[in-house]
Amino acid sequence: MTTKETCIDRFDAMLNERGVTRRRFLEFCGAIAVSLGLSEAMAPAVHEALAEGVIGKTEGNLAPVIWLELASCTGCTESLASAETPDVATIVLELISLNYAETLSAGAGFSLEAAKEETIEAGGYIVVIEGALMEGWDGNALKIANEKGTDIVRHAAHNAVAIVCAGSCAVDGGWQAALPNPGGAIGIQAFLEKSKADGSFTWALADGKQDIPPIINVPTCPSNPEHIIAVLVDVLLVGKLPALNELNMPSLIFNQYIHDNCPRRGHFENGEFVYQFGSVEESKGYCLYPMGCKGPQTKSNCPIVRWNRRVSWCVEAGAPCAGCANANPTKQGFNWVDLNTPFLKRFKNLMIGDIPIQPMTIGIGLTGLVAAALVVHAVGMKVTGRTKGGADFEAERAWDTKHPAEAIGPAAVSAEQAKANGKPQTLTEEVAERSEAAAAEEEESKSEATEPPAEENAKGGDE
Ligand code: SF4
Ligand code: SF4
Repeated sequence: MTTKETCIDRFDAMLNERGVTRRRFLEFCGAIAVSLGLSEAMAPAVHEALAEGVIGKTEGNLAPVIWLELASCTGCTESLASAETPDVATIVLELISLNYAETLSAGAGFSLEAAKEETIEAGGYIVVIEGALMEGWDGNALKIANEKGTDIVRHAAHNAVAIVCAGSCAVDGGWQAALPNPGGAIGIQAFLEKSKADGSFTWALADGKQDIPPIINVPTCPSNPEHIIAVLVDVLLVGKLPALNELNMPSLIFNQYIHDNCPRRGHFENGEFVYQFGSVEESKGYCLYPMGCKGPQTKSNCPIVRWNRRVSWCVEAGAPCAGCANANPTKQGFNWVDLNTPFLKRFKNLMIGDIPIQPMTIGIGLTGLVAAALVVHAVGMKVTGRTKGGADFEAERAWDTKHPAEAIGPAAVSAEQAKANGKPQTLTEEVAERSEAAAAEEEESKSEATEPPAEENAKGGDE
């Protein structure tokens, strides 16, 4: 009989054989516990659940996984493969039964496609999808093994128990869906809902309440290995879907703002900001909001779970959060790239929840309205002592003066007013102006290069 103790011993022995010590594995379990919304102290409980799940399931039926790679840079697979313990081979062999993955499977070609077919036919599997689906040119924008991506997804989904969308491209089309989106990139949830509505998709397990497979959206670019593994642990081993929010994202991971857990948050509240890379303010680790940080608008537990074996994460490494978790599977054309670019510029308005806040207000003094908004959003600001000791504020930012229609603060005017004042109205227009000027300059230098110098002309004439 397999007792809890023998399960753990056998599981540890399996890990040991693969060079993973119990201590290192417990560290990894701590990361999973945090991603599952538990305390890191729950690591031993996660270890126990994994041991029981893996040993129990390998003796019975381990739910198979099909990993489809659509239009992607393979960053999510790379990200998973860099998870330290267990390494990807351990994950593949012990935690999940990965029957098909173009990048990770040792097999290839017809035998691999046959393994996928057998898995689909047998049912009871999970599909993990990396990358965007391309609908363009009647689905010919993406073909794998001579099959359209659209048909591959419908076919793999029709008998699946659940679908995990790994990374923002699978959630909302991501980079591929950025305007003008010529290949017709789309997220998996939107595609299946559309296919269901037009009658081109039927889910074999539809039960009257649900007519497409449960979808678990796990954004960020790439996906965080701890997030993916925590979800797979929930689905495959614990046998349940994680609690999901309205965007079908695990709520324990994606229901908290980056800003709320950011170590630079104190500087934000003090009005201490970085306005230029390489500045004294940057060396002091001040808040990166003016450099385009999307932390206040982005929900993910990145500051807690972190990246690269929990070493660091974007803001701690000195880069503003680019908002890559801002994927929205329900709004076509509202993908995180279009929404958040240019990455190193501020949004017109800083939003905390639904309340627009101007960061200058925070440093200079709190108005009743803003203070009330901040209290409502429980950001815990102290009202006193915020006006002294912070970075100096410019009365009017140079960028705001130049782009009044996109400014925040006193320089802000309506687009019509900016046009009437004869200023470049938007960044797009300014970029267009710059491109025209650059093209004219290039044209000029080309014609200069082809014309012989005046002196030579004169010489040639004399001869
Ligand atoms: S704006 Fe960005 S850097 Fe500043 S506190 Fe918020 S998340 Fe951190
Ligand atoms: S901190 Fe922001 S940019 Fe970095 S991974 Fe998290 S959501 Fe993406």
